[in-house]
Amino acid sequence: MTNNIAVLGAQWGDEGKGKIVDMLTPNFAAVARYQGGHNAGHTVYVNGQKFVLHLIPSGILHPGVTCIIGNGVVIDPQALFKEVDELARLGIGVDGRLLVSEKAHVILPYHRELDVLSEARRGERKIGTTSRGIGPAYEDKIGRRGIRICDLLGDRDALAQEVRENVHARNQIIKDSTLDWKPVFEQMLAYGERMRPWVGDVSLFLASAIAQGDRVLFEGAQATLLDIDHGTYPFVTSSNASIGGVCTGLGVPPKAIGGVLGVAKAYTTRVGEGPLPTELTGALAERLRESGQEYGASTGRPRRCGWYDAVVVRYSARINGIDALALTKLDVLDGLDEVHICVGYRTASGTITEFPADLRVLNGATPVYESMPGWSAPTRGVTQFGALPLEAQRYIRKLEEASGVECAIVSTGSDRAETIVRRGLAMDRWLAPAPA
Ligand code: GDP
Repeated sequence: MTNNIAVLGAQWGDEGKGKIVDMLTPNFAAVARYQGGHNAGHTVYVNGQKFVLHLIPSGILHPGVTCIIGNGVVIDPQALFKEVDELARLGIGVDGRLLVSEKAHVILPYHRELDVLSEARRGERKIGTTSRGIGPAYEDKIGRRGIRICDLLGDRDALAQEVRENVHARNQIIKDSTLDWKPVFEQMLAYGERMRPWVGDVSLFLASAIAQGDRVLFEGAQATLLDIDHGTYPFVTSSNASIGGVCTGLGVPPKAIGGVLGVAKAYTTRVGEGPLPTELTGALAERLRESGQEYGASTGRPRRCGWYDAVVVRYSARINGIDALALTKLDVLDGLDEVHICVGYRTASGTITEFPADLRVLNGATPVYESMPGWSAPTRGVTQFGALPLEAQRYIRKLEEASGVECAIVSTGSDRAETIVRRGLAMDRWLAPAPA
């Protein structure tokens, strides 16, 4: 039985995966990112200091842990260097601890322009991307014209030709663009040289690490409802944020995944456009946004807020095979008179309890809520389930029943220590000491 686990978002992202991964990391030898780009933003607080990491797994803050960026990730070298430099300023070196897949695709300067252009063209139907070139880089990957990290390190003439052809093709799409391919090519060569010490065969590394008994944590960015296949398409990210992305984005077999921990907030948020059935407006939305500090870690955009949606989490649990949940930000609900859990949607053709594919169904859906009394005593910083106000315990139990999965972890604050780990559930097996 393997003790490698995947930690991924069960809602629309920003669930607080950063904190959960950070807290679990000391039990693992390596943390591996399998998809997304530098649009993800993990905020972690260590000794009161705030770190926002976009590309490098937050495991880098733990000495001795190897951090891996898989082939499923798209890399903007400048963004990577910026993080490396910031970490260096804090006294954290990445050499020997960072491994970047030679098969990962590169975000080129024109990808950002294409991102902005594509959003502008969609007008009213814009996706709400972070405009960092991630979508266009994935388009080039699927279009079989992408440039990979290994291309930056290999044959110069072949790279020159690829860059020339790509820049030429982009110039025809971007109005008035006269981008010269040569500086782009030279920049890519320089980027490749700087990355060279970190680049390697991620699949091979993971296979041998796992074979020798090292534990690996597979870290998801974004979340299941933003998955290109299983999310609220087209208002999704361009990669497989759900469990399948672990295998394709790192080159590991399904058998390497021993457990799946889904991270869900005690309510729901989403950034950008697209359906959010339990969305709240007015004072209550504002109250959740302020107490939960619901502003994007990457862009500062205010997040849309709503009640916990058990239809969504049950769907995520099925897609990913979630064994247990880490429920975060329970403390944000402190002091509310009533709390609500969405258990179904009322639609034109009746009440449904399974998450629909068609966004028109979702857009016309009214949530069916189970309402419960709230709690006034603060939960912030509570570390024992039994020490939570009874109403909060009942809320969690109801939410577990409606979502069909247990909460093995309950987070009651942003600090590592502000966490309840419930014994006797799935976490015990994953966090047991490694065999000698
Ligand atoms: P991620 O991308 O899933 O890691 O989520 P973000 O980092 O964008 O957002 C999570 C934010 O919530 C961070 O600022 C965390 O410090 C904070 N956070 C995480 N867990 C809790 C919690 O239990 N309570 C509160 N109040 N904040 C939390």
